[in-house]
Amino acid sequence: MATRSVIIIGSGPAGLTAALYSARANLQPMLIEGIEAGGQLMLTTMVENFPGHRDGIMGPDLMGEMRAQATKFGTEIIQGNVTSVDLCSSPILVKTTEAEYLAKALIIATGASARLLGLPSERTLMGHGVSTCATCDGYFFRGHEIAVVGGGDSAMEEAVFLTRFASKVTLVHRRATLRASKIMQDKARANPKIEWKLDHEVEEIKDTAKGEVTSMVLRSNTTGEKTDVPVHGVFVAIGHTPNTSLFRGQLELDQNGYIVTHDGAKTSVAGVFACGDVQDHIYRQAITAAGSGCMAALDAEHHLENIPEHLAAV
Ligand code: NAP
Repeated sequence: MATRSVIIIGSGPAGLTAALYSARANLQPMLIEGIEAGGQLMLTTMVENFPGHRDGIMGPDLMGEMRAQATKFGTEIIQGNVTSVDLCSSPILVKTTEAEYLAKALIIATGASARLLGLPSERTLMGHGVSTCATCDGYFFRGHEIAVVGGGDSAMEEAVFLTRFASKVTLVHRRATLRASKIMQDKARANPKIEWKLDHEVEEIKDTAKGEVTSMVLRSNTTGEKTDVPVHGVFVAIGHTPNTSLFRGQLELDQNGYIVTHDGAKTSVAGVFACGDVQDHIYRQAITAAGSGCMAALDAEHHLENIPEHLAAV
């Protein structure tokens, strides 16, 4: 089995940017796509905040462009799912459902998945009124009534942010007590545009037949009573889960399971780099993920330069 210079796991903006830079550095990278090829942007519609696209670009189209650009310079894209990695072995062993690969440098760009409520209507209307990113989609709801679901800091932050655009924000939380820090709660509670629906759960988002959000059905957890609340958008802000189960016990993770990086994209294991949402729970933007993908590729390239024989082995 030939040893690759660089293997990249993940095909969102971080992974594809790392691939583009590695390919243009003549490192002939292999990128393993994963099940959710293209990442979170495949679930969005119009992206208006990726620089260079003045009129916006559809999320899947943007990912298609990034993929084509990475391939154009020689990235080999494998449509597989990584089942295990051995970060202690040298070279690093990467196994997929179909095959095994060896790499001198590994770039992890497996992203994070937004937690979802698990309603079928939520999936169907994702990108059509249902969103997991206020920064990305808030602008589309100017003058409309919308809802934010969740009781943590993210939900408070998103609700307050969305009052810039929406005429009213209904905050729905499943318990009577919020999880958010006091300072974030106070900020949200002081905002007159936020209406509170505590102790309520979203039972359904309508209207899948129309392909747009027209209302949500709320169920009171105290009385069981159901109400149909008219809204144009539902922002699900119930947290994210970093896709790091493959690396648990092999790499330093923070208390929430995100990969800890230092000095750019370096991880706790030499030759292993991380970029994008798998190591960033703060910014979570396509452009910041792409930027960190570039950093990971440059760091990997620098690492390889210090392994004299690497070019001969490719
Ligand atoms: P989080 O703290 O885990 O809060 C998630 C919220 O969603 C909780 O209120 C939880 O309800 C609710 N939830 C979870 N699953 C649900 C479900 N299936 N149905 C309905 N509700 C559900 O997540 P987060 O708000 O994204 O914050 C993550 C971390 O980032 C935290 O450490 C937070 O402090 C930090 N953060 C900080 C800032 C800031 O300081 N500016 C901003 C954003 C995030 P329960 O409360 O009932 O469990």
